Amino acid sequence: MKLCSWMWLFRAVLLTAILIAGIVDDGFGRSDLLVVIAMVVSAVLFVWSRRVPAIDRPLTVLDSVLLIGLAVAGLTPPAALAIGIIILAQAAAFRPIYAAAAYVGVVSTIAVLYTTRDHTPHAGLSALALCLLGGILVVRAVRLNMAARSGDERDRLIAGSIDAMIWEELPEGGYRMSDSSERILGYPAKAWLDPEFLASVVHPDDLPAAEADPDPDNPLPTTFRVRDSSGRWRWVENHLTSIRDIHGRHRSFAGITVDRTREIEAEHDVRAFGRLVKGSPVGHMLLGCAGDGSMKVTAANDAATAIIGRTDRLVGRSLDELTNGDASVRELFGLLRSVASGAREKGQMEYHGGDGHVFQATVRSLTDDSCSIDFLDITERVESHRRLHEQARCDDLTGLPNRRALTEYLDAHIARDAAAPLALLSMDLTAFKEINEALGHETGDLLLRQISDRVRESCPAGDGYAVRKGGDEFAVVLTGQAVDRAEAVAASLVDGITRPVLIDGLRLRVGVSVGIARYPSDAESGAEVLRRADIALYRAKQRGLTVEVYEPDSDPLSRGRLALVADLESAIARDELTLHHQPVINVASGRMVGSEALCRWFHPTAGPVSPELFVELAESSGQIRDLTRWVLRRAIADLAASLEVDPNFRTSVNLSVRNLYEAELVPAILGMLAAAGVAPDRLILEITEGGLMDDQAAAIETLQALRDAGIGVWIDDFGTGHSSFARLRSLPIDGVKIDRSFVSGAAADPEGVLLASMIELVHALGLRVVAEGVETDEQFELLGRFGSDSAQGYLLGRPAPVEDLHTRLAGASTNGSRPATADPATLAAPRVPGR
Ligand code: C2E
Ligand code: MG
Ligand code: MG
Repeated sequence: MKLCSWMWLFRAVLLTAILIAGIVDDGFGRSDLLVVIAMVVSAVLFVWSRRVPAIDRPLTVLDSVLLIGLAVAGLTPPAALAIGIIILAQAAAFRPIYAAAAYVGVVSTIAVLYTTRDHTPHAGLSALALCLLGGILVVRAVRLNMAARSGDERDRLIAGSIDAMIWEELPEGGYRMSDSSERILGYPAKAWLDPEFLASVVHPDDLPAAEADPDPDNPLPTTFRVRDSSGRWRWVENHLTSIRDIHGRHRSFAGITVDRTREIEAEHDVRAFGRLVKGSPVGHMLLGCAGDGSMKVTAANDAATAIIGRTDRLVGRSLDELTNGDASVRELFGLLRSVASGAREKGQMEYHGGDGHVFQATVRSLTDDSCSIDFLDITERVESHRRLHEQARCDDLTGLPNRRALTEYLDAHIARDAAAPLALLSMDLTAFKEINEALGHETGDLLLRQISDRVRESCPAGDGYAVRKGGDEFAVVLTGQAVDRAEAVAASLVDGITRPVLIDGLRLRVGVSVGIARYPSDAESGAEVLRRADIALYRAKQRGLTVEVYEPDSDPLSRGRLALVADLESAIARDELTLHHQPVINVASGRMVGSEALCRWFHPTAGPVSPELFVELAESSGQIRDLTRWVLRRAIADLAASLEVDPNFRTSVNLSVRNLYEAELVPAILGMLAAAGVAPDRLILEITEGGLMDDQAAAIETLQALRDAGIGVWIDDFGTGHSSFARLRSLPIDGVKIDRSFVSGAAADPEGVLLASMIELVHALGLRVVAEGVETDEQFELLGRFGSDSAQGYLLGRPAPVEDLHTRLAGASTNGSRPATADPATLAAPRVPGR
């Protein structure tokens, strides 16, 4: 029971005593009526205050007014004083120590008053009894109040330490709230006394939860949002307990409200994150390691379940249960075990899902006993990589694999089985460039497409891989059974490619040369077999053949070719090369009219290297430009010296057809001539017939420019290529050097018909003739008869250093004619054929 209720009870008793004492003394008077009224009011208030604890203060005021009325109504001054003290005590009821003093004072005063007025023992006794009773009540009041205060203090401390508000529901609505409300929500405790306050600060959505009537026997905690004084929504958790009266009846609720904003917001974040992960298209799986080393799925989102796809439910399944024949699954679980064992912290692989999708699976170690797998769908990325990869390895025009694809194909074949043989057929079209330039690139493209179809068709199905290497170059790789039939396949390729092609009503025909090399007999690697096939192809073209097989035995230096290429570079740079001159003799007069400059390379270890070989090496390694420059510079210097002896002297220099594509060739030669003070018409440049026919258009422009500059241009080794006399007519040239095979062949042909008609036809074109390879008097004599302008050959002088040339030239100029000699071996003493 509350302190104030006891006070009302005590006062009713006290007033009763005053009344009885008054009646006994005076009979029932006016003041006694007031006392009765005060007693009734006190009794009513007593009952009421038990029901409504918060009524204390208004009751006190009301009661005080009554007592004042009582005093004014005519009590004796001491009684009025006593009543005043009651009022004081009433006011001090909330301070126990004042209350104690006031009540003791009041009771003593009343007792003294009655005793002194009546001097009756019963009045004194009753006063003392009242005094005693008052004392007991005051002590009890003090204790109750102290207990209440210490309870309040405890509540305050608890509420302060846990960020909680302790409250008690008030009978008239509203709450008695702990002061922590101010700290937590920013509202003073008294704000909660207003019964409407709770509804005004609870989030509208949470109002039903906040205002629900809990079951007093089992009040469940509720959680709702409350707006704090700064306007921010805070999550609070309300724990309730039922407050009961002495009969165990539920009277009201009290409870503790805890600020859970941080936890609940974090929980919400976690829940939202969980939903995000669950609905994510990226598959996520968590796996836990059991003590026995086995692993089980502890969590998996929908995407991971679909990707693994083995079962509806992954959670709780072990790796063994999920393992099946799928290679991707096995690889993934192997990776997982290695990460789980601590061998690595993270692993990544491409996981192939059953439906053609590809995922990047990342396995990570999370804690000592858990790992995660993420599956990122990379199907599109993989597909676009594949397309790019294919595009990079496919020739746009023909759809055939390109050179890069060829290199990878060869390497992959060898990597798969180093002993498995293959044959590479390298092909180069002839006369394609002419068609391309004459009829336009569109026609050229159509032609290449048709040719590529033919190459594809001639490829043995299954064992053949056709490639366009670029430009007019194709290749076919033969594997398996087809390797042994390489020559036959080459023949059918030649047959297919050289058949006429009909484009826009035109019958076009191209030629082709094929070089064949084999792995592993000819080469040790893919790159090497490519190079060897190209060497065979080059030889085929050089010899005017369609098919040439690479033969290492017939090319003793082939193994050292690469080393030789490197050595050639330094030979040019270090001036290890020398230049020899072979005399050119006027057939009619027998006089030396010029020389051909021929390059020599004496290799420090390999000895003399054939010019045919090192010129070919220089051409294939791109060093031909430097080599030719070196020869030109030296030959022009020698020529300048020769001209001092014979101002009509001319020297020829051999050009490779590749030199004709150097943009600055003509100005470079003219520069050298000018620097040496040599007139351009003293220099002759020789171009081999075979090479020239291949790349006519651009090369001819250069030839024309050379000729325009006054330099002589001659076709070398005429008769060995495919060019016709008709074609000679269109070339900007001054003369033709007939290949030595025609000169040597002339002996076997008594009439010399072929050589004679060649000389005649060349003359008919307005060109001059030099016959090469004259080794016998008979040949020289025939040449004189057939009207050849000049001749060259061992009979007339071997290639020799320039000093020998000058010695002979000086001798000739003093003699006025060529010195006679019986020894054809030296330039200094040539044999003069009898005429
Ligand atoms: P080529 O221009 O036809 O030169 C003539 C070749 O025939 C020379 O061979 C010469 O030594 C050889 N020869 C001359 N008279 C006779 C003979 O009576 N009987 C025989 N059997 N051979 C004779 P060499 O010097 O070995 O040169 C071979 C080829 O190498 C040359 O053929 C030429 O095409 C090329 N060559 C030489 N030097 C150079 C050069 O500086 N630049 C370029 N691009 N090619 C060169
Ligand atoms: Mg020559
Ligand atoms: Mg020649």
